Amino acid sequence: MELYELSIEEAHRRLKQKEISSVELTRAVLERIAAVDSRVDAFLKVSENKALAQAKAADQKIAGGHCEPLTGIPLAVKDVICTRGLETTCGSRILENFLPPYSATVIEKLGHTGAVMLGKTNMDEFAMGSSTENSGFKNTRNPWDLTRVPGGSSGGSAAAVAADMCLGALGSDTGGSIRQPASFCSTVGLKPSYGRVSRFGLVAFASSLDQIGPLSKNVADCALMLNAIAGYDSADSTSVPADVPDYAGALKEGLKGIRVGIPVEYAAAEGMHAEVSDAVANAVRVIEDMGARTIEVSLPHTQYALAAYYVIAPSEASSNLARYDGVKYGVRDADQYDLLQMYRRTRSRGFGPEVQRRIIIGTYCLSAGYYDAYYGKASQVRTLIVQDFQKAFESCDVLLCPVAPAPAFKIGEKVDDPLTMYLSDIFTLSANLAGIPGMSIPCGFSKKGLPIGLQLLGRHFNEEMLLKVAYNFERVTDFHKKRPDL
Ligand code: GLN
Repeated sequence: MELYELSIEEAHRRLKQKEISSVELTRAVLERIAAVDSRVDAFLKVSENKALAQAKAADQKIAGGHCEPLTGIPLAVKDVICTRGLETTCGSRILENFLPPYSATVIEKLGHTGAVMLGKTNMDEFAMGSSTENSGFKNTRNPWDLTRVPGGSSGGSAAAVAADMCLGALGSDTGGSIRQPASFCSTVGLKPSYGRVSRFGLVAFASSLDQIGPLSKNVADCALMLNAIAGYDSADSTSVPADVPDYAGALKEGLKGIRVGIPVEYAAAEGMHAEVSDAVANAVRVIEDMGARTIEVSLPHTQYALAAYYVIAPSEASSNLARYDGVKYGVRDADQYDLLQMYRRTRSRGFGPEVQRRIIIGTYCLSAGYYDAYYGKASQVRTLIVQDFQKAFESCDVLLCPVAPAPAFKIGEKVDDPLTMYLSDIFTLSANLAGIPGMSIPCGFSKKGLPIGLQLLGRHFNEEMLLKVAYNFERVTDFHKKRPDL
């Protein structure tokens, strides 16, 4: 096995035993990036020198007897997360030259444990999209089929993990952007409960929905990464001062007595592929065989989730993105000296078409006279969706459902049809509206060899349950062991 193929767990074992050094491991991963990323295009920026310097520092830390689970482990970071002194573009031309003066809390936390940051990964502009085709810079390709999308918006992070160009990566999820690319690329991906991980330094898209979370090669690695980034942060007023359990400790064998809910509404969803429903049905059988009990549950307001999300998310985005005015951040179109002209030209040139579409929709939904009809109504629907989940979780401990209705689609297939693209998120965005944790794990492949993911949804702050069920499924299956040929 090549060093770049290692899981975090195995690399940690070898680092701790001093069988390998972090510099060796980081070099191997950087060489892997050099060998395959010209085909995949997962990274916007590889910070080779910084990574090697961090690896050296990690080796010293280990020599001093301090080897935490992520010490010396090379990771990639979605470009929506601020990294001090290292370009953070959010996949947008408007932030092309932006060097953050501070790092996000999650980056500080990873830094303290001695993790190595390899660079920044490609994404849909401001995390708006489901394919990474809305990046202002380039398309990322799916390592399983280079003619297809890796999913989005954390497509660069998912592709980098799947292609062994990092041992794990951070993504962000506003309506599915960790889980959907994880399922398209056959990686594990987890969106924590809203408030579990600090959003400080995460560039805001829709502040009431955004969460940072891990993408990894297996469930144990996901737990280790979540342990490292979770927890209260006084710099984020929405971060919750709840104790963080030991997630790695939650990975216990056995599912006896666990009640698994199957939402009936999800089976009838538009555009559902038979191969996806078969793979999910098979996964449910595997979990039943391990002693879990399945129950049908109803989430009656599911049909309104997409519409509510596409009012709430653009509304918040239109407000958040008002700060990109050519004065405070990033690029300015300075040909014109009239202030309004400058604003207009900077924003027209700096933002791509999807971002502009959402700013216009959001501004409309929030405007006087329409606010109650759109934003107000969508917020009421959101409450109904929260109640649906509360009710469902009275009779079960975890919900199982698909991540996306179909496996990865072709590059270019949906890019001119935003409404079809929005349907990719039909199973994921309810979790963001409700603030509950959601996870994607590999559960099959289509006849064409494209990955299929299984989604697990849990109660607020019960990431442990998701990890436990996922861990048990992974133990008796080997979908997660398959790697794309590159
Ligand atoms: N695809 C969804 C959107 O375009 C979700 C994106 C995300 O989770 N960041 O808004």
